[in-house]
Amino acid sequence: MIHAPTLKLQLEKVLVHETYDSKPHELELSVSEWYAWFKQQQCKATWHLKSEHKSVDSGSTRQREVLWSQRWECDHAGQPRDVGCMAKIYACQPFGSDKVKVIYDWEHTGHTSRNPYDVRTWLDNKVNEGFDQKAIKAMLWMSTEELLEITPDADAVPYSIKISAMDIYNAVRRKVDIDTRLTPQLNDSIKKWVEKSCEAGWSTLYEPTPGEEIRDGFTLALCSPWQKQLIAEYGDTVCLDSTHNTCRGNNDEKIFLSTILACNRATGHGVPLAFMLTNRESQ
Ligand SMILES: [Zn+2]
Repeated sequence: MIHAPTLKLQLEKVLVHETYDSKPHELELSVSEWYAWFKQQQCKATWHLKSEHKSVDSGSTRQREVLWSQRWECDHAGQPRDVGCMAKIYACQPFGSDKVKVIYDWEHTGHTSRNPYDVRTWLDNKVNEGFDQKAIKAMLWMSTEELLEITPDADAVPYSIKISAMDIYNAVRRKVDIDTRLTPQLNDSIKKWVEKSCEAGWSTLYEPTPGEEIRDGFTLALCSPWQKQLIAEYGDTVCLDSTHNTCRGNNDEKIFLSTILACNRATGHGVPLAFMLTNRESQ
């Protein structure tokens, strides 16, 4: 488990865009610093090598000014001219020098570079390590609302923060999908879950809905051990809550969730005693 401050630092390295006083920004780095610096830039945007030049040690009569040079362009540079991004990185090692000279056109124009592959991978890893939406958001120190405000048009906001609330949501969904599907087929997966739940002491029901067999109608009911205990205690005063559109079924049909609740008449609060999912409203 990585500690939060370390994570925050990592996140900042990957996500937070540097801004500089000068355009372009020029810097001089050792060769190893250059590799590290450029690796970091590759996490922030996707850079394509536009041109490369290497001096040959002998045979060239031309005056050798640089040992090597590279010109990198943002992958949005090839877009139609009005949105073509102007961000560029030029690096060269002057002849006779052990330093790398970098000219960095750091301003991305005409686009927000969102979610390069590395950022998405990073996010997936964090979710897999058990960081939920809340934890990742806390690391970002931003609210959902603030994250949602970051749009390509919002110049005032640090546009280089490439993770939106939706990205976090999607990463969590990808993880949930992997964790919860026991087999690729939904029907088989549900059957396996029902088996697993029965072994753990749940009461379950998974059957074709009477009268809806032809239309693939099914009913899935679940009641956990602790819920069964509560039924014995509070089962005499229950109410039924129906939620439409909880999710979609195999044929993209709407799924309805019915919850049997024990309710406290005075406070209005309740506790779910059992859940039932159906894909046909008639039931
Ligand atoms: Zn760009």
